[in-house]
Amino acid sequence: MRTDVNRINENTPWQELTEGLKMFAGGTARNFATGEWRTNTPVLLQDKCRQCLLCVPVCPDVSIPVRDGKRLDFDYEHCKGCGICASVCPFEAIEMKEGIEP
Ligand code: SF4
Ligand code: SF4
Repeated sequence: MRTDVNRINENTPWQELTEGLKMFAGGTARNFATGEWRTNTPVLLQDKCRQCLLCVPVCPDVSIPVRDGKRLDFDYEHCKGCGICASVCPFEAIEMKEGIEP
């Protein structure tokens, strides 16, 4: 059973927490929706984005997909909301929002 991250507190049984120990090997995170650990969420402001791609390589969770040389919207299944992408964007095209929803 999964517990919504917003409802986890000191009384939540460990059996209801998202599995984490299976993520010790490379590449296994794709099988888990680790984005549910997020407490802040980046939002792409399409009208400000110049497609410079500076945000892509700094994402520690590889959560900014690129296709045909252009960045797409965030992979919210895996983005953990660290905010690094927003910090490096020179055009203020990424806004950090409080909470798990974009
Ligand atoms: S907030 Fe962090 S994890 Fe999410 S896309 Fe930006 S750099 Fe990646
Ligand atoms: S760094 Fe900013 S302007 Fe450049 S691709 Fe990322 S969001 Fe767009």
